[in-house]
Amino acid sequence: MLLLSTDPAHSLSDIFGQALVDRPQKLRLAPKARLDVWQVDAEKQFHAFLSRHKERLLSILETGSIFSRADIEPLLETTLPGMAEMASLLAIADALASGKYDQIVVDTAPIGHTLRLFALPQYFSSFLDILELAASRDRLLAELFGGAVPGASNPLVEEWRRMVETVRAELLSNAEIFLVTTPERFSFNVSQRAIIALRSLSPDVDLTGIVLNRAVLGSQHCRICRLRHEATCTARVFFRRHFPSKSIYIAEDAGAPVMGARLRDFGGHIFAGTSFTWKAASPKSRVRALPLSRVEWPILDRNLSMVLGKGGVGKTTISAALGCSSRLRSSEAVDICSVDPAPSLDDVFQTEISDQPRSVLGDAKFRASEMDAVAVFRSWAGRVKQMINQATSGEASSVHVDLWFERQLFSQLLESVPPGLDEILAVLRVFDLVRGRASRVLIDMAPTGHALDLLRTPDRILVWTKLLLISLAHHRTLALARDAGVKIAELGKSVRELVEFLKNSRQTCVYVVMLPEALPDRQTERLIAELSKLRLSTAAIFVNRVLFKEDVGKCRRCTRRRQWQLSTLRQLSARHSQIPLYVVRDFAHEIAGKRALRTFVGELWRLA
Ligand SMILES: [Zn+2]
Repeated sequence: MLLLSTDPAHSLSDIFGQALVDRPQKLRLAPKARLDVWQVDAEKQFHAFLSRHKERLLSILETGSIFSRADIEPLLETTLPGMAEMASLLAIADALASGKYDQIVVDTAPIGHTLRLFALPQYFSSFLDILELAASRDRLLAELFGGAVPGASNPLVEEWRRMVETVRAELLSNAEIFLVTTPERFSFNVSQRAIIALRSLSPDVDLTGIVLNRAVLGSQHCRICRLRHEATCTARVFFRRHFPSKSIYIAEDAGAPVMGARLRDFGGHIFAGTSFTWKAASPKSRVRALPLSRVEWPILDRNLSMVLGKGGVGKTTISAALGCSSRLRSSEAVDICSVDPAPSLDDVFQTEISDQPRSVLGDAKFRASEMDAVAVFRSWAGRVKQMINQATSGEASSVHVDLWFERQLFSQLLESVPPGLDEILAVLRVFDLVRGRASRVLIDMAPTGHALDLLRTPDRILVWTKLLLISLAHHRTLALARDAGVKIAELGKSVRELVEFLKNSRQTCVYVVMLPEALPDRQTERLIAELSKLRLSTAAIFVNRVLFKEDVGKCRRCTRRRQWQLSTLRQLSARHSQIPLYVVRDFAHEIAGKRALRTFVGELWRLA
């Protein structure tokens, strides 16, 4: 069996306590289980694939367009958006083709991006149509202007088609799909929307089961546990009602991290329904208390603030709270925008949020919007198509008969929505918001792995614009190439400004949100290191859902959880003495609507 992780913010290595590289390795923890583990490195995987096929791909692209090998080759060398999903698809294809495994378990990225993975075979097929069209350029033009030349389909395209078809069948028809969620209304709303989107991709695709993680069962004496038990019951009712034929698996919360040797028992507990046979451990050293002081929520003081964190840590709630407290204590307008492909601003503000900014909480100077990448792309593609049609029809009558072909190619290219597109559009959206408004702009980002991708995107766009301009320069006699050149140069200029803007700590800052648990703790470490590599300044870390002594009472589960939290908090404060650490209390219920948000921003603690 193979366990393959395609989440760009990997945690398999942390969970198993084993250093993992980008190829299947034996799991040391359970040598008899014959389980291989593979943590996919998207960039390596993708480039290895490209270099295997580069020659053949280049020759097709060269035949099929006005661009030469020298024009195209550097573009293939750069990193593309949507690479994480593409690499996931390739890794799954490799694992299937190896014939070594009876079963392959894929640990996917958070839901928004996993939907992209499922949609990828479709996109890849249309890309292959484009390649096929490109490969048959000479034949098609010959047919159009006289003598028909027989042509065979291209072997590379055929090979890729077979690969995509295999992965498509496995993913969308044969795979068992488990949805993992927590008993919180935001999570299950997001889950439900995701399942609807998944079903729309193919009639065959369906969910196998739902795993309700961090569930609390049994009658409880503790207030926190009672609230979480009620939430668990609500979630069960919700999923039973909406997905009556699906199995619901319950993963009970032990108040301690599940790692290493405990995973086997945990698996038995979820899928075989055994009760906890293992005693949850407490951290090695007991932490009594931490020096916390009560503070006000920070006021947004840069033009652009971004909120980052893993899926399910309460990123959106913290974003909303930051916006809300700024509006309460400052006269500046706030624009909050979610670029997460699985947004939940609607749930927090309890009103429908679209891609058009609208005021929330009855405050005209507090506006919220969610980016709809697909809609933005379609309207952009429509404009580009129109431009190309005008330009090529003007020129078709003259010597440039080959532009007929370019037009076919471009319109096919613009028909399908490329993966990773949201990253590029999100960057441009961010820039529009920042440039067009006098307000404080707050971005609720995608979960960690993809948020980092988004932050790397401006630099990548700059590389492409340079390369594209060089290749267009060779064709400056064509009006279309000149028009495109102007547009690309403009784009390059605004992206360069954005890069400057992002790296200026007086204008831009990042807030990191995490949960006080051992695993997210390690991920936060890596996230902050990545942010500083990108020269982005981390203004503060919010540690969300912290249990306070008075909340815990005599409850053993909560006491144990609190011990783990304190130990994580202590390590955090030791490691990040330069970054303010804010502690947010565990309210044990969702924060939604004006009143709840006001209460939520009424309390914040800072760890000295
Ligand atoms: Zn409790």
